[in-house]
Amino acid sequence: MTVQPGQFVQVPLGPRVRIGVIWDSGNEGPPPNPEKLKPIQQVIDLPGLPESSRRFIDWVARYSMAPLGSVLRMAIGTPSLFKQSRMSVLYSWAGAQPARETAARKRVLEILESGPPRTAVDLAEAAAVSTGVITGLADQNVLERHERDPSHIDLPAPEPDTPGPTLSGDQKSAALALVNTVREQAYSTTLLEGVTGSGKTEVYFEAIAAALRADDKAQILVLVPEIALTNQLLDRFEDRFGARPLAWHSTLSGTARKAAWLAVARSRARVVVGARSALFLPFADLKLVIVDEEHDPAYKQEDQVIYQGRDMAVLRASLADCPAILVSATPSLETTVNCWNGKYRHVTLRERHGGATLPEVETVDMRGQVLDRGHFLSPALVEALRETADAGEQSLLFLNRRGYAPAAICKACGHRLQRDNCSAPLVVHRFGNRLKCHYCDYSTPMPRACPSCGAEDKIVPYGPGVERLAEEVSGLFPDQRVAVIASDTVKSPQEVQSFIKRIENHELDIIVGTQLVTKGHHFPMLTMVGIVDADLGLSGGDLRAGERTYQQLWQVAGRAGRESRPGRVLIQTYMPEHPVMQALVGGDGPAFYRSEADARREGLWPPFGKLAALILSGRDEAQVSAHARRLAQAAPALRGLSVLGPTPAPFARLRGRYRYRLLVRAERGVSLQPVLKDWLAQVPEKSSVRVTVDIDPYSFL
Ligand code: ADP
Repeated sequence: MTVQPGQFVQVPLGPRVRIGVIWDSGNEGPPPNPEKLKPIQQVIDLPGLPESSRRFIDWVARYSMAPLGSVLRMAIGTPSLFKQSRMSVLYSWAGAQPARETAARKRVLEILESGPPRTAVDLAEAAAVSTGVITGLADQNVLERHERDPSHIDLPAPEPDTPGPTLSGDQKSAALALVNTVREQAYSTTLLEGVTGSGKTEVYFEAIAAALRADDKAQILVLVPEIALTNQLLDRFEDRFGARPLAWHSTLSGTARKAAWLAVARSRARVVVGARSALFLPFADLKLVIVDEEHDPAYKQEDQVIYQGRDMAVLRASLADCPAILVSATPSLETTVNCWNGKYRHVTLRERHGGATLPEVETVDMRGQVLDRGHFLSPALVEALRETADAGEQSLLFLNRRGYAPAAICKACGHRLQRDNCSAPLVVHRFGNRLKCHYCDYSTPMPRACPSCGAEDKIVPYGPGVERLAEEVSGLFPDQRVAVIASDTVKSPQEVQSFIKRIENHELDIIVGTQLVTKGHHFPMLTMVGIVDADLGLSGGDLRAGERTYQQLWQVAGRAGRESRPGRVLIQTYMPEHPVMQALVGGDGPAFYRSEADARREGLWPPFGKLAALILSGRDEAQVSAHARRLAQAAPALRGLSVLGPTPAPFARLRGRYRYRLLVRAERGVSLQPVLKDWLAQVPEKSSVRVTVDIDPYSFL
């Protein structure tokens, strides 16, 4: 049988038949036990995995220390790829008139007269008739039947030559710099940094246009951190280029995934907008990779194969030998340092488009404020809300806490409610008066009696969540239209989209939201942003806590005053002198990045050193901690490498599993993965303890 590298094949493996990929051409000479080899059963009729996809998967496996097979399985991601898709039948009007005209038949024909062919179900729904009416018309040859492969999607080509907006001088030179990287047709990475509202999207659209123009097969990948942003970008792209790009995200159905996968493999999809997993699509002609909001923590994948999507995007570009563009108003420190040392190029937009000014930022010192019980808004913030309401403008209150209150406490004994097998607090949700865990699906009605001391009616919500805040605001401003946006109040991308529309159309006056509302959106009437608890992200042992807080708050602040009306931002904090607050008030991002870099350089933390976490978990605490100690004892004694721990994780018990962690810190010159591999090989595995390696960890909970 002749096969090519990349082809999908069926092979016998033990008693079963499995799907595999021809990974490479075998140049290693004859196999050791040729009599044990079994023949490939058949080649699957699908486009193969291109060379650069395979090399990428190899690399991700090596880097993340995950088995190649797991990475490959994740990369394919869709078992539906190997299922035969059933043909669907579409109906169009054949031009003839029905023998007897009825109102129902007339409606069907009217719809088909002006629209594309449709399935019977679709058509029946649109015309409000039964499917019998449609099959009846087809039997009379009034309608024509066509077969369609559902794994085929029509993707009209984007039109790169439609003119975009007239760019400002700054925007023009930024666009030219990006277009030049595309013209070089070689790997490079460029950071496009610009304040929120400076036109970064318009500018990178020019690079996309250049790539589309240069080569009529060129494929372009645009990564976005969230589905809501995918939809927004699809609309903007369509306005500009006259065609919708291919969308790729976790909520696509099996058939849609297969269709998308095939469209990419066959080079029919020219532009793909997607979540980090789009990196694994089988691009045949990748010519440009863009990572929007490159600093966003959502790029880090924390389960199965652990990887940082932004870093892998740069790697993907280098394997395809094409440029990568990282886009942000608040770049990650990693990217900033790469610009400083010349590894990345740096293009900057300094001003907001159309003369809009950056908002004025001030802190509200919460020390010494006396607020009524259950109230969380300072008089200054209430006053700002009132002024904004009087001006007929919109306000946004930001609090990154879903639910009504982050904890429930017994007033009699001080007990904080949590599950027996978990150390995460239970969160109060007012809707249905329930307690929920935010780390698993657990949910229970609020108990009357304290599980610890038995006192009745003594359990009270503790601290603010967005729902509680909305209650406070509604009480203060009964005639303002107040609404909450959080991932549990608006669930699907469509719901997020329609909520965003309500804000844009000024159907709401005060929005209380979590980080869901902070990104990328443009609200002309929003002029005041109140940050209710700016200190929230600074606690905990997360090495990026300061950086992340700065990025997040600056993004939220950036929602204010994006058009002609100037914006204003109030930050409630107990630490007004903290460097993060100072940087926000003074608008001095560069100073913040420098001091943050100094601190990390000194401690040899990333990006100046390497870091990896070994996370151990299991149901028996004694076994987990013993295994952690065995690992610590076997730790490599290597110059430039140190091992911290083991310690129980901050949430020492989640979903019934105990968790311990070791941190490995090394100088940049150390090849971490081989060292970790040798180390782990020295300590015999225990089936009751799971060990996960997280290279460059982001989450420290
Ligand atoms: P960013 O991505 O930097 O936040 P956007 O690209 O979203 O900025 O631009 C902000 C708003 O300004 C968008 O509505 C965009 O269409 C508009 N805009 C930016 N540059 C121009 C321009 N040169 N002409 C017209 N509108 C522009």
